[in-house]
Amino acid sequence: MTDEIHDVVIVGGASAAISAAIYAVRSGMDTLLVADEFGGQIENTDVVENYLGFKSITGPEIAERFREHLNEYDVQQETGSMVTDISKEEDLFRVETEDGEVYRAHSTIVCTGGSRRRLDIPGEEEFRNRGVVYCAVCDGPLYQDEEVLVVGAGYAGTEAAVYLSDIAETVHMMDTGSEMSGEAITINQVKDAENVDFIKEARIQEIYGDETVNGVKYRQDGEMKDLEVTGVFVEIGTVPNSDLTDLPEKNDSGYIQVNPQMETAVDGLYCAGDVNDLGPQQLSVSSGQGTQAALNAADYVKEKKAED
Ligand SMILES: Cc1cc2nc3c(=O)[nH]c(=O)nc-3n(C[C@H](O)[C@H](O)[C@H](O)COP(=O)(O)OP(=O)(O)OC[C@H]3O[C@@H](n4cnc5c(N)ncnc54)[C@H](O)[C@@H]3O)c2cc1C
Repeated sequence: MTDEIHDVVIVGGASAAISAAIYAVRSGMDTLLVADEFGGQIENTDVVENYLGFKSITGPEIAERFREHLNEYDVQQETGSMVTDISKEEDLFRVETEDGEVYRAHSTIVCTGGSRRRLDIPGEEEFRNRGVVYCAVCDGPLYQDEEVLVVGAGYAGTEAAVYLSDIAETVHMMDTGSEMSGEAITINQVKDAENVDFIKEARIQEIYGDETVNGVKYRQDGEMKDLEVTGVFVEIGTVPNSDLTDLPEKNDSGYIQVNPQMETAVDGLYCAGDVNDLGPQQLSVSSGQGTQAALNAADYVKEKKAED
């Protein structure tokens, strides 16, 4: 641990964290950003068409633009290591990484986003990366002209189905509900695609195969059914990456609770983006929340230093 005390440590490497870092440094704060890696969820997305200023841009490209913008500023960056603990000692935050590095700061902004939710059924772990996929854009092209299944018909599931419909022979999309949810424009694209078939009110039970996936068993109308597919794309939402700290209050699903100022119940601890309980989980929202958190953190640090 060094003697250095930062004004703010920001944890995360995607839209919420990068926006927070830019606003923090422009507010005159000594700013350190700690991330395991840059990019975040948007890097695994096909096309973004709803972020102001870009009519259409790929996920990896917009992530790269965010990073280039960050690099215009004097923000210290530590990458390649997960933050494993955030605590508070004598009015200073202590941010610790898996490599044993410890950073201290007057304030901290948690922007750790979300990770893909797992199905938690037999075969999921066994066939992971051998037919069970969590990123349609990354691995979809491997399933050229094959029969694939997208599990989930929400925001991510419908986007994956549209993307895969240009690659796979047939895209089966399964959901426990009877309707698709997500953006209306994407739902219409699914409906227009001739090779997407929606299996409603069905619950996947098992993934089977030998070397790779051969199919799934699912329950529908009280009956066990079988579907032969070579790829299972799991798109059933996200879980918050909030395990790194027990300091703030969390809701029952693990999302960090904040007020509209992005303040947690702990003085000087802020939280922005998909890891908090506000939503909606979108780039524009997470970057806006990053801005809000940084500006409030800057006020907090100025007042704190004036009192010290
Ligand atoms: C399939 C899909 C399609 C989407 N399409 C769109 C779209 O078209 N338009 C749109 O606006 N939004 C879209 N979204 C939503 C958008 O991606 C998210 O709202 C946005 O990425 C949230 O940003 P974030 O910074 O809060 O978190 P994330 O993007 O989740 O990033 C979290 C960051 O924190 C880092 N991190 C996590 N834990 C730790 C730790 N312990 N220590 C250090 N670093 C850590 C991660 O490496 C990452 O850099 C999509 C999401 C998905 C899943």
